[in-house]
Amino acid sequence: MHPNDPRLNSFIPVERDSHFPIQNLPFGMFTTPANYAPRAGVAIGSQILDLAVLEQAKLLEVVPGERVFNRATLNAFIERGPELWSRARAAISDLLRHDNPRLRDDAALRARAFVPAIAARMLMPISVPGYTDFYSSKEHATNVGSMFRDAKHALLPNWLHLPIAYNGRASSVVVSGTPVLRPNGQTRGSDQRAPVFGPSAKLDFELETAFIVGAGNELGEPVPIGRAASHVFGMVLMNDWSARDIQQWEYIPLGPFNSKSFATSISPWIVTMEALQPFRVAGPPQDPSPLSYLETSGAQAYDIRLEASLAPAGKPATTICRTNLRYLYWSIAQQLAHHTVSGCNLRVGDLMGSGTISGPTPDSLGSLLELTWNGSRPIKLDDGSERCFLEDDDEVIITGYAQAKDHRVGFGEVRGRVVAARAV
Ligand code: MN
Repeated sequence: MHPNDPRLNSFIPVERDSHFPIQNLPFGMFTTPANYAPRAGVAIGSQILDLAVLEQAKLLEVVPGERVFNRATLNAFIERGPELWSRARAAISDLLRHDNPRLRDDAALRARAFVPAIAARMLMPISVPGYTDFYSSKEHATNVGSMFRDAKHALLPNWLHLPIAYNGRASSVVVSGTPVLRPNGQTRGSDQRAPVFGPSAKLDFELETAFIVGAGNELGEPVPIGRAASHVFGMVLMNDWSARDIQQWEYIPLGPFNSKSFATSISPWIVTMEALQPFRVAGPPQDPSPLSYLETSGAQAYDIRLEASLAPAGKPATTICRTNLRYLYWSIAQQLAHHTVSGCNLRVGDLMGSGTISGPTPDSLGSLLELTWNGSRPIKLDDGSERCFLEDDDEVIITGYAQAKDHRVGFGEVRGRVVAARAV
C-alpha cells in the first residue's frame, strides 16, 4: 500500500484530530534529557520514532552501509534525493503498520525507538544556507499596498507578472519556541521630520508556510517549471516576524532589511511534499497569463487550513486569523522556477517563504498590520485586552493541517514569545 493510503493504520494509537497519523510521517530533529545527541525522528500520534535507533538496529537503511539520521540536521538525508526520501518514508510506514510485527512485537526495541513527544526538545530540522521570502498572496499585497501607498495603486505593475520576493537572512531562522527579541531600529513616523532610534512599536507576525529545497541546481542552470516539484523536499509553518515601523521607513528602494532580519521562526516538523499530494487543488485563476517560463497546468495549490492565535503572558490564546494556503496566487513551482530563471543556484536546505497568506475575508488576514489596518482598528482578545501590534511577552502560535475524510495531515505548530528590547 502507498504510504498515503487512507486505509493504513499504525499500532501506535493516533487520535482522529492528531496532526501526525501514519499517512503523514514528517521528519524532524530532536534531543531528550536521557540522550543529548541530536537525531532525526518522525512524528506518529503523540510519539516520536527515533530514526537513528532504527538505523542502528538495521531496520532502516537509506544508504547502504551509511547512517544519515544521527547527524545534527536532516541535510545529509535530504541531499540523497527524491527517490531515497520516498523509499525511506515507505520503509518507515511499513514498520509502523498495525499488521507488521517486526517493531510492534519487539518490546525492547520499541522502548528504545519511541520517545513521547512531550519529553523531547525539537531542534532546527535543517541547516539553512539561504532564505528567500516571497510575496505571493494577492490579498496581502493589495492590503499592504493600500496602507503603505494608496488603494488605487495597491498592486504595483509587476505583481501580476512575477512572484515578487526578497533575499532574507538565513542566520536568524530559528525553531519554534525560541524567544524573539523586539528589535531596535530606525523609524520615522509620518508626523516626524527626522528619524529616531529605539524599540519597534509596531512588532508584527506574518502567517506563512515555507518550502524546503531538497535538490539544488548548478549556477547558471535554471530549473524548468515542469521539473520544479522534484526539487522540493517538504514544507513547514513559518512566522516571518516583522517590525512595521522600521519596514515602512527603510523598505524603499531595496525592500525590507532590519525590519525582518532579527528572527524568522519555523515549525520543527517538515511535512514531505509526498504526504501533501492528496491535498492538491487548483489555485486562483491567473490573469494575465504568466510568461511561458511560469506557465503551469493542473492542481498547483494545496488545501491547507491555517490559523494564528495570540496569547498574552499567562493568558489563554485567542484565534485571530483563519486562512488557507490555497489562496496563494503564485504556486511553489512558479516561485522555484522564477528564483532560478536568472541562473541563481539553490542549495539543499534553502528555505522559501510563501509570503503572508491572507484570504478574502476580514478574519483571514495573516498579519496584525492587516487585521488592525496599521493599528487604526484594534482587535479584541478573549481576556478583554486589545492589540494593535504585539506587546512584550505576547506569544504567537501558528498551526495548520490538511483534512482528509478520516485523518489529518498536519504541521503541528510554530510558536514564539516576544521579549522586551535591549536597552538603547
Ligand atoms: Mn514575509
